[in-house]
Amino acid sequence: MKLYSTNNKNLNVSFKEAVFNSLPADKGLYMPSIIPKMPADFINNLDKYTLPEIAFEVANHLIGEDIPSADLKMIVEEAINFDAPVVSLNDRTAVLELFHGPSLAFKDFGARFMSRVMAYFSKNEQHPKVLDVLVATSGDTGGAVALGFLGVEGTRVTILYPKGKVSPIQEQQLTRNGQNIRAIEIEGTFDDCQALVKEAFNDQELNKYLRLTSANSINIARLIPQTFYYFNAYAQLLRKGIKDVVFAVPSGNFGNIGAGLLAYKMGLPIKQFLAATNVNDTVPRFLNSGTYEPKQSIQTLSNAMDVGNPSNWVRILDLFGNDSNLLKEIVTAYSYTDEDTRIGIDTLYNKYHYIACPHTAIAYLAAKAYMVENPGQYTTVFLSTAHPCKFPEVFSAEKIAAISIPEQVKELENKPSHKESLGTAYPAFKTWLLSNKL
Ligand SMILES: *Cc1c(COP(=O)(O)O)cnc(C)c1O
Repeated sequence: MKLYSTNNKNLNVSFKEAVFNSLPADKGLYMPSIIPKMPADFINNLDKYTLPEIAFEVANHLIGEDIPSADLKMIVEEAINFDAPVVSLNDRTAVLELFHGPSLAFKDFGARFMSRVMAYFSKNEQHPKVLDVLVATSGDTGGAVALGFLGVEGTRVTILYPKGKVSPIQEQQLTRNGQNIRAIEIEGTFDDCQALVKEAFNDQELNKYLRLTSANSINIARLIPQTFYYFNAYAQLLRKGIKDVVFAVPSGNFGNIGAGLLAYKMGLPIKQFLAATNVNDTVPRFLNSGTYEPKQSIQTLSNAMDVGNPSNWVRILDLFGNDSNLLKEIVTAYSYTDEDTRIGIDTLYNKYHYIACPHTAIAYLAAKAYMVENPGQYTTVFLSTAHPCKFPEVFSAEKIAAISIPEQVKELENKPSHKESLGTAYPAFKTWLLSNKL
């Protein structure tokens, strides 16, 4: 696969280069120069493939020249080792559950695949060096990335989080998994954590000793595996004889829906994508008015979507040749307040006894609105991006009692916790990085 920068189509880098230097110098984003269509035979017979088989076929089609089949197969099978079931709520509405991986969020798809691709390329270098991943997190997002590297040979993760500002389940995920994951609690804010990580990346001396990488959310190796579950969801629907499908996607940085649109460009015959946001509505406003006006992010119940300037948006525009009219034919956008979100959570519970996390509830509201506007035509599938047990603060006692706690959480409860505590000063962090070998 060759890639260009959205700011310079003449740039031409390899997949490996785009994986390790995820941001082009011109500040664009990497995009595949050619988006190959999957063979019609594959699309028409999707119902005969399992998720790992689909993942391999799609990955092989995109990056088969960069990673030999046998290795790619192993990467895919190790990374995508959990289900992504489509659960029907009624005749015309279903939910695609993407939270059955180790961090209980859809980011497991991207993070687990990217980590293994990085480890694969590093291992095959002349002088392999441990890949040191540095991540700052305010909770969910960074945690999933860190966990994506859990147990991946040749890699080590250092994750910084602000003391007292992550939820108990999130903290357990960071501090109790052990192996190659090291958690540092910082006496400060998320911005302090980010500043420390940034300073480490810019520290030339440190970079002489350690091979640092950021596992950035815009890495192309995170986008590719997110296409897999769109193909796989369609496969499950085909088995029920359903062909006219609309996906509703809870969106923040627009990586998830970006992957869906990439799958569409590869030939997956989806009728419409619904971009569902909270009040951070830069994209819905753009699709209505034609002007792109990013704004400061606003804190909401669906905090993994509190993004005022979605980083993957330029990729989506690029997929449609920067023609927003073409884009509008396939994407409809909706935005919802926290009050709406609570109503969505309640409706799902009262009607279907289904408990959805706040992000998922927003996608449900978009699905419902679209169905009212387009009655009787399509089956609408909304994506569930995280398990509700990660957001206990938004649910009533009755709903909390009805949430079943997944194995992944129970296992951690019995494990010892390990964390380091540091202040916000860089020298101490640097000394720690240099002295603490795994
Ligand atoms: C990251 C995240 C989202 C938003 O996904 P994008 O790819 O950034 O649009 C939605 N829900 C949850 C639970 C997330 O963690």
